[in-house]
Amino acid sequence: MINFYNTLSKKKEEFIPINPKEVKIYTCGPTVYYYAHIGNLRAYLFMDSLRRVLKYNGFNLKHVMNITDVGHLVSDADEGEDKMLKAAKRENKDPYEIANYYMNRFLSDLDELNIEKPEIIARATEHIKDMEEYVKQIIKNGYAYETENTIYFDTSKLDKYGVLSNLDADNLKAGARINLDPNKKNITDFALWIKAPENHLMKWDSFWGKCYPGWHLECSAMSNKYLGEEFDIHTGGIDHIPVHHENEIAQGKGYCGKIPAHYWMHVEFLQVNARKMSKSLNNLYTLDDLKQKGYSPMDFKMFNLSTLYRKDINFTFEAMDAAKISLKRLKESYQNHLKGNDIIDPEFIKKCKKQFLEAINDDLNMPQAMSVVWEIARYSKKSKQLANILLEFDKVLGLQIDKKEQENELPIEIKEIIQQRKEARNRKDFKQSDELRDKLIMLGYEVKDTKEGMEVIKIN
Ligand code: AMP
Ligand code: ZN
Repeated sequence: MINFYNTLSKKKEEFIPINPKEVKIYTCGPTVYYYAHIGNLRAYLFMDSLRRVLKYNGFNLKHVMNITDVGHLVSDADEGEDKMLKAAKRENKDPYEIANYYMNRFLSDLDELNIEKPEIIARATEHIKDMEEYVKQIIKNGYAYETENTIYFDTSKLDKYGVLSNLDADNLKAGARINLDPNKKNITDFALWIKAPENHLMKWDSFWGKCYPGWHLECSAMSNKYLGEEFDIHTGGIDHIPVHHENEIAQGKGYCGKIPAHYWMHVEFLQVNARKMSKSLNNLYTLDDLKQKGYSPMDFKMFNLSTLYRKDINFTFEAMDAAKISLKRLKESYQNHLKGNDIIDPEFIKKCKKQFLEAINDDLNMPQAMSVVWEIARYSKKSKQLANILLEFDKVLGLQIDKKEQENELPIEIKEIIQQRKEARNRKDFKQSDELRDKLIMLGYEVKDTKEGMEVIKIN
């Protein structure tokens, strides 16, 4: 039995998918206007754990993640500057160039973290027509109204707005600031479709002239297109609960009378030294920053597995050092078991497998699962059988415990020499290739040429 905490019901519930064979999931993807920071990446590590746990339980997945490559506003509400356009101005580039660049960087971060990608990655700019049709249906159903500049969702038409975060719309009204658009009927109404000003960079022809979509609409239209009106799980960060996901629920109700997902799962924030990660505090780190400081992407993954996804996690370099050492020890334990021939009590194996499964199925309790992993890793008897169990568990952890140090975890100067050596070997310039090998040894790296290619090992 799998239990997940559902933000909608505010309790842990047994997970029962609509289709017993295939779980349908939607994950809110990034807005690609800057590098993903390690807080953002925590959200996608959670997504990875969820996928892996469901697959370990034998489910097939149909999982969609959007890429927000059309501007949305700096704040979640309909105000502030457009993030994509701000980045385009900052870098003096076309917003499409900005989006392509940062989307590719994000996808390569996922690869480096060995995060499984969703089956469908949907770019907002490629689904504008789907969004327009979605708005038309909402209007037809009487849940939207048009003002001079915007098509708004009319939240007063719902039986209740704010089911996810228990928003009290009356209190909101009382405490609201002056409404920026005097034509907006209710404070909780939000933009579905926005009529683009003359100088707006990203806009599309539509029934209402040149327009661009609201951010919340994007996720509703794309989840509906690929997963249908109702699907199993919707994921995102906790910041999505009060506005973005409330609005997706409102749109689903306006479109077809249904809350789109049955289970809403939200990951807590990663903080830095107990403070919010932000540019102004100069504590915003990317995966590249960590790599430059000598931590591998897998070290960061290991660090994340130490905390429940529903608890905030405090990022410190001391904790990263501990994660790095742990991962190294885990890999060594795996190698030691691989060489062992001791006989293992089948009851011990049975117990470990059961406990591991119970932990991951208890709302992705990875710290608990890791304690089972360590019990096996540290077991006094050494056996290939235990190495295989660790490898089986690694299908869920995704730590690549069987991999020796990876090229992509090496310092940049070492990578450059490796590249030069590869080129020398391709030219059959073995003299230079040997010289470069000696240079690597001087720098503390040993090169082995294997059938699969070059293996580089740090000499301790
Ligand atoms: P964004 O590109 O701003 O939409 O963010 C992408 C994802 O990262 C969303 O799911 C956010 O909820 C999540 N997120 C943003 N900041 C953090 C953080 N500090 N810790 C964990 N998740 C975060
Ligand atoms: Zn979304």
